[in-house]
Amino acid sequence: MKVLLIILSVLMLSLLPAQQNVTSADIVFKNGNVYTAIDHAPKAQAIAVKADRIVYVGTNAGAQEYVGQNTRVVDLHGNTVLPGFADAHQHLSGVGFREMTLNLEGTTSLEDLLSKLKARVDQAKPGEWVTGRGWIETHWQPPVFPTRWDLDKVSPNNPVILGRADGHGAVANSAAFKIAEIDKSTPNPFGGEISKDKQSGEPNGMLLDAAQGLVRRKVPPTTREDAERAVVLGVKRDIELGWTQIQDAGGSYDDIDIFKKLYASGAIKLRIYKAVYGPGPNANRLLSEGPIVGEFQNRLTVRTIKVISDGALGSRGAALLAPYSDAPDTAGFLTVKAEELRPMLIAALRKGIQVETHAIGDKANRFILDEYETALKAVPASERKVADPRWRVEHAQIVNPTDIPRFAKLGIIPSMQPSHAIGDLFFAPSRLGMDRLKGAYAWESFIKSGVVVPGGSDAPVERGEPMIEFYAAVARKDQKGFSTTGWHPEEAVTRAQALKMFTTWPAYAAFEEKLRGSIEVGKLADLTILSADIMTIPELEILKTRCVMTVINGEVVFEGS
Ligand SMILES: [Zn+2]
Repeated sequence: MKVLLIILSVLMLSLLPAQQNVTSADIVFKNGNVYTAIDHAPKAQAIAVKADRIVYVGTNAGAQEYVGQNTRVVDLHGNTVLPGFADAHQHLSGVGFREMTLNLEGTTSLEDLLSKLKARVDQAKPGEWVTGRGWIETHWQPPVFPTRWDLDKVSPNNPVILGRADGHGAVANSAAFKIAEIDKSTPNPFGGEISKDKQSGEPNGMLLDAAQGLVRRKVPPTTREDAERAVVLGVKRDIELGWTQIQDAGGSYDDIDIFKKLYASGAIKLRIYKAVYGPGPNANRLLSEGPIVGEFQNRLTVRTIKVISDGALGSRGAALLAPYSDAPDTAGFLTVKAEELRPMLIAALRKGIQVETHAIGDKANRFILDEYETALKAVPASERKVADPRWRVEHAQIVNPTDIPRFAKLGIIPSMQPSHAIGDLFFAPSRLGMDRLKGAYAWESFIKSGVVVPGGSDAPVERGEPMIEFYAAVARKDQKGFSTTGWHPEEAVTRAQALKMFTTWPAYAAFEEKLRGSIEVGKLADLTILSADIMTIPELEILKTRCVMTVINGEVVFEGS
């Protein structure tokens, strides 16, 4: 009996938690409804965080061992915890500038646009430029572009330019056209179109893609202070919505300088995975200086060149293999020259630089797949600095079904934006016809073909809210629950897939899958904590779900009331 007791007590001792061996955590989150985004251990209750890393994932009791004298214990009261959400395609300063200039998001009609414009013009100084962005005419009655003559009614003297939400078109007034010296005889620039009145042949005010530059270069440049403020405002909005990283789809070294300054002063905490535009001077600089990886405690990485190969579907700038169904005289246009692209792709492979290319139309997608394939063949893996370069196609919106398997075959990542599908469902059928909708916004077909599909918002093209994107991915219906005939509901994804679209898959697309994207020991402590369980609630309730806390690098950077 005595021997048995001794054995038992030895056994008990060995079963006792090795309290002194466990370091105390900085924060312990308990009573959470935790989704880890790991297939073999999908759920947990509690998380312990030390410095910037996750040190424990499991039960409340297990996490309790990490509670020391200085540990902050956060009771989540059953709130849902997800790996920190990443927006795989956003334009950060655009999001900030949307807050700073005339914000035309949600404009319901031409009259609505004109009254918002009038209010702004009334406050402007004589001759001062009025700029804004965010209108989209597809819900208006009738759904037609505004004209310069419309704008002239409320702004006869102040020059005005107002970007369509997608950024691929803008309307300017006559005063702006006069300053830019655009008239009937002005030729279309490469990659753009000055839209004309069908009867008179006069420019009607709409400028598509590169043609916007004719007016935009007359607008006084934004100051460095404005640009910094835009980044700060954009970051503030992003972390309040629960984004922990954004992948900034294009820009310049000026942006990078601003990020560095704001990181150094502690003004921003959001992770930014930044691309610079190419071909051109910014791409050349990245190719010669090499990538920036994980600066500011894994917050800033720059290793990607962003190429734009066509326009957008709404403004009929997307390059299609066959003409638009509702405008048989046009099939859109490519916006990059193959002879400028080719040497850059070769250099990128040799130097270990990622390339991501905006491609909306089926022609643009085929074009870039062809160009990528040629470059990948020309530079075999043994001659590349990064053997698997993880090149991306941004949007991959309308893809000929025969081209879908080519992504997996070539190791190309389609980076897609669910909200585009629920915004475009009102005009895509007329632009494309029923046949081409097969292969449009084809998320599930892509996933089944063997690729990962990182999800993004493309804000400020779209609103840039994680709950809208998650909802759009799983519902494939508009925000009222409406869909339309021929909209391929089978291309909606499961909730588990949608979770990966905003967590593990963006991490993979950024070469960061070992560092972040899931909730597991050793990974960076990025968490998005929500007011409801978006993995189980009815679809429409996802849109009502709020971010209650955002954690980046183990630091609570946003806490809702
Ligand atoms: Zn974009």
